[in-house]
This record gives sequence, C-alpha cells and structure tokens, in this order.
Amino acid sequence: MILDQFFDIEESLSNRIDNFKKKICPYCNQPTTIDSSQLKWTCSSCKSDFYVWYGNKIRKKYIFTDNEYKQIDKENKLNNVKESIIIYLNQSGLSINEYEVMYNEINKTKTILSFMDILWKLFNKYLVVYINNKQYGLYRNIKYVQSQILFRGKKYQQSLESLFEVSYYDLNGYSNGIPSFDPKNGSIYNPLVEEIKQTYKDGKIKKEELVKIFINTTQNIHLPISANDAWLILSKKLRISA
Ligand SMILES: [Zn+2]
Repeated sequence: MILDQFFDIEESLSNRIDNFKKKICPYCNQPTTIDSSQLKWTCSSCKSDFYVWYGNKIRKKYIFTDNEYKQIDKENKLNNVKESIIIYLNQSGLSINEYEVMYNEINKTKTILSFMDILWKLFNKYLVVYINNKQYGLYRNIKYVQSQILFRGKKYQQSLESLFEVSYYDLNGYSNGIPSFDPKNGSIYNPLVEEIKQTYKDGKIKKEELVKIFINTTQNIHLPISANDAWLILSKKLRISA
C-alpha cells in the first residue's frame, strides 16, 4: 500500500540497541552516562546530544542521534497524516483502493501533491459522481468530512459553509434512493448544531453574518424546504434570532 512506503527508521536503527546496553555514545563511540529515565542526553566525552528511545516495533531501548531524531519526528508526523487519511476515508465511505487510484492518476501527471491534497481531490471527484447519481446521502457524508478537515486547518468560514450545506440536506431528509429528499424524514441532530456553534465561535464569525453565509451556501441547491425556511429552523436550534 502506498501509505506504507514511509521509511521505517526504527528497524534500520536496531544496531543501536547495543549502544544503549553498553552505554556507548553514537558519535564518538566512547563510554558515557546513560540511563533510560530521560529522553535527551549529552555525551560526557564529545558533548554531542543523543536520545534514548523505546522502539515500539522492536520492543527494546536504543539510542539515536540528533538527525535521526528529526527523521523519527518526521516519520511520526507522516504516520499521523496516514492515520487521519484512513479515518477520513472511513467516515466518507471511500476506501484505500480509491485513494490509491487517485494517487496513481496524480503521479502520472508528475504533479506533486501532499497526501491530504490527494484526499481532497478524491473527495471532489466523488462529490461530482454522487451528485450526478443523485446519491445525496453519500454526497452529504463527504461534505461533512470536508468540514472536519477545514476546521482542523482553521479554515472556519469554509468549514461553516460545509456544515450549513450538510444541515440543509439533513433538514430536507436526504436519501440515496427515490425520492431524493423528503422533509418528513428531515431533522438536525444536536451534535451537528454544537459543531456549527463551535465553528463560528472559533472562527470569530459574528452571529449577524450567519444568515448571509447560510443563504449564500444553500439558495442554489433548490430542495423542498427553501433556504429561508431552513434558516428559520436552524437559527432556532442555534438560539439566535433569524
Ligand atoms: Zn560522544
């Protein structure tokens, strides 16, 4: 799998287990003071900094240098990205296979994109597919995941727009079948209302601006409950005057 290509530094450093056991500096190979109770050490001979680390995969303590620490830090960050991507894919109903297809398509064009940008392109591709197939539930789920990613990136206004769109589908009672929308099945769940509040608060977006953002985001979607009527319902839930 593409996401497994990250350099596995832990295994490549297994020879450093001996450095820890014999208390030998990884730079000058001289004996030095080490125990396992702290992460960072300075060699008593050459004054270089090194680290003592418990390898989760090799299940032993070992030593590594400053540069290797930076590599491990980078790998950990990449692994966090990888985990996030897997979580977002699960939430959106898309799979790693679909991600890989997109990855390969982008690779062929020799474009360099981050792993998250590839995910974003994948989402946008499926938004078009789902809207064409009138699969509004699947469409709505991707919009929801996008709102989460935008929130994490502190893009609060865009996150709010996505949440408003999601709430509009929820209120109109979306489905993946026919009819696509039936307001009788529509509702807005409280967790979504709370997320909307959190987003405009964190984004320091004024309450008076919310109506404009909601209407601008939803007025061209044309569902059984109009954008204006939907705002009346949502603004009550948000406890703000419409
Ligand atoms: Zn040394």
